[in-house]
Amino acid sequence: MSERGPSGADEIIFDMSPKKKSEYSVPKLKDFSAVALEKAAKDFLSALATESKAAGSEAEWKIFRDRWMARANGLLTQINESWLKAAPKDAKRAAGQCVNELKAKVEEIVGATSERILNQAHSKGRPVGRAKTRDSASDPHGGESPGDRIDITLPGIRRPIGAEHPVIRTSREMVAIFQRLGYSVAEGPVVETDYYNFESLNFPPNHPARDTQDTLFIAGQESKPLRDRLLLRTHTSPVQIRTMQKMKPPVRVVCPGKVHRNDALDATHSPIFHQIEGLAVDTNITFSDLKGTLDHAMKAMFGSSVKTRFYPSFFPFTEPSADVQISCIFCDGKGVRDGAPCRNCKASGWIELLGCGMVDPNVYGFVDYDASKVSGFAFGMGVERIAILKYGVDDIQLFFQGDVRFLEQFG
Ligand SMILES: [Zn+2]
Repeated sequence: MSERGPSGADEIIFDMSPKKKSEYSVPKLKDFSAVALEKAAKDFLSALATESKAAGSEAEWKIFRDRWMARANGLLTQINESWLKAAPKDAKRAAGQCVNELKAKVEEIVGATSERILNQAHSKGRPVGRAKTRDSASDPHGGESPGDRIDITLPGIRRPIGAEHPVIRTSREMVAIFQRLGYSVAEGPVVETDYYNFESLNFPPNHPARDTQDTLFIAGQESKPLRDRLLLRTHTSPVQIRTMQKMKPPVRVVCPGKVHRNDALDATHSPIFHQIEGLAVDTNITFSDLKGTLDHAMKAMFGSSVKTRFYPSFFPFTEPSADVQISCIFCDGKGVRDGAPCRNCKASGWIELLGCGMVDPNVYGFVDYDASKVSGFAFGMGVERIAILKYGVDDIQLFFQGDVRFLEQFG
């Protein structure tokens, strides 16, 4: 064994110089009764708490960690030797339990101390470990203090790791499903013109969606013609128009992104939310292709037992149009869960999830496609709505409040 020992911690532990007299050391036990063990454990823990509090920098924490946990001669190793191994046969069990509990406690406190020091350093805006660097630089003996030695068996400092936001994660999952079907991804501006958001999508001038009640318009645009006025896009459909202007059929594209509506905040509404829309245009595309595609996507997202059904609906840019419902994933479409009516589907067994339809031939006129030669379908869904179902979230606002306690659950 070298002068310093493999962990470098020996000197501190056995340093009995006068100034460290008061430092805790592991007593050799003669009495292994429950009372004596309990007393020894209590002293051990109180020393642990005191020394944890005293550690104020990363360098001090490392010394603290080595003193208690170093494999060679840490205090844990010492209680293992002098309390457990030295215990007479009939006291082994009790001593073993005691040592195990203390081991868990030391690991917990050493971890918590590291987190506290890290947080303190962060809140002071000071890079962690700077104190150590300064100490080493001024150390005439080459800067190798016991705390600098690396013992790879010891736990490191845990730094918080970020997690993907549930809305982004859900969006990516859905996009990936369509990418596997051969769709590419297109994005477009969040601030759009009236032309792309409404006119080119066949919205009549008096359509309710154009109303100021629903749309957030950019101020000071009155001098421009209506079609050039700017607004926050109310759906990602303008990206479909922009894509068709750039590409000739066949087109298969999904458009994920952020959209805005002038909605008051409540548990199910938010002025910001996300959509994924899709578009397929080619020769001979039929409603059956639309049904098959969406049925596959819903099964891929929610599980193969999920059923879909299509209800007639209306959208200005599709004809015919349909709302798509999936069988309730909470009650397996029965409408009843645990003997009570299912709240998630209002006991109907179905949940409405998307809108879709065959692209209205009028729309092709805006992008120079020949409506007599091509056909296609489009669909759109709200990402938050899917995330709410998938993760059992009960309030859409949780997605936008940035509360780490909520987001941590998805880490
Ligand atoms: Zn249900």
